[in-house]
Amino acid sequence: MDRTTGFLNEELETQSWEAQQEALSRRLRETVAHAYEHAPYWRRIMDEAGVSPSDIQGVADLPKLPVTPKAKLVEIQGAEPPFGGLLGMAVERMQRVFRSPGPIYDPQGPGEGWGWEEALFAAGFRSGDISINTFSYHMTPAGMMFDDALRSLGCPVVPTGVGERETQVEIMQRLGVKGFVGMASFLLQIGEKAKELGVEPRRDLGLEVAFVTAEPLPDSLRSSVEEMFGLILRQGYGTADCGCIAYECFHKGGMHVVNRAVVEIVDPTTGQPVPEGETGEVVVTLFHKAYPLLRFGTGDLSAFQPGGCECGRATPKLKGWLGRADQLVKVKGMFVHPGQLQAVFREFPEVEGFRAVVSRENNRDRLAVRVVSRERSEGLAQKIAGRLRDVLRIGAEVEWVDRLPDDGKVIEDTRTWD
Ligand SMILES: [Zn+2]
Repeated sequence: MDRTTGFLNEELETQSWEAQQEALSRRLRETVAHAYEHAPYWRRIMDEAGVSPSDIQGVADLPKLPVTPKAKLVEIQGAEPPFGGLLGMAVERMQRVFRSPGPIYDPQGPGEGWGWEEALFAAGFRSGDISINTFSYHMTPAGMMFDDALRSLGCPVVPTGVGERETQVEIMQRLGVKGFVGMASFLLQIGEKAKELGVEPRRDLGLEVAFVTAEPLPDSLRSSVEEMFGLILRQGYGTADCGCIAYECFHKGGMHVVNRAVVEIVDPTTGQPVPEGETGEVVVTLFHKAYPLLRFGTGDLSAFQPGGCECGRATPKLKGWLGRADQLVKVKGMFVHPGQLQAVFREFPEVEGFRAVVSRENNRDRLAVRVVSRERSEGLAQKIAGRLRDVLRIGAEVEWVDRLPDDGKVIEDTRTWD
């Protein structure tokens, strides 16, 4: 079976990005008009911003609207229960209501799914693959999201949910399960449990493809699972409110953004899009009628990655999850995130610890990186500084130290602004 090429909807997925943007602009105009008319909260947001539906003609007009972070939705639903004026549809047409931590209540309208089908196909799921779905089926939408998507691909679902590793192994063996949906760390645990039970995952289980999300996926975790089971493992990125936002194809190297929503990367302090390639907050505009979301701030960081992909999909890629927006520090006009520093230092196994210290001298920012290392040489300091400059795009000074404070901080900001 060919799990590495092909498309779920070739015409749509290979259409030029410009044509896809035009289609998105059309749907955006409809959604903005619908939200303004039916969801009082969005009408208020637009009135306050002095923007009328006719001012939003396309994707390029979106920055006229403010970013609404998840915390704001929690607040307004709490102040005006149950939906705080966010519901864009008559109650009798609503199909389900999910409750995610916050709390936040997400209504689902008829035929309004979460778009994971495309992601699962790109990962390698094919019709006829019996699959276990290990996401939770209650309160939050995760379980239902993937259940719907798998069934619509023709993959029969075993709704196993979380936990019960021993039973998961039995189900895989008994039913000849080919697909896994869930968290990579959980699949690794299932494999370990199988070994304990004398079942050799690669030999005795027929798992061929896994789709994982909901946690960062270091290369080491991906390769451990792929080797343990002899399968293809690909990841996606999404949220409970938005569903699928981006996913890996067979060629990896970032995640293709979906064409079911508008995905922007913005400066979290201004809400304006950052230049291509720079890190910023992922902001999503979702076209659902029941629960339209206009510039929803996910609080997650990512960046657009230039360049096409061998798979033939025309959508740009996100670099994947680069951390949380509230951990960002702006230094010399550029955002610096703990994840970027961690990525640099993973390349230097001789380094035992590090801490970035931001200070301000003569009205200029200074970034020093204090490093504890088995090896201390001018050459190593230059190599580290070079990689920091590549990744952060600003200069940093490397300082050798014997020890670091024991508080786990990756970045310490000592600047005062009074
Ligand atoms: Zn691709």
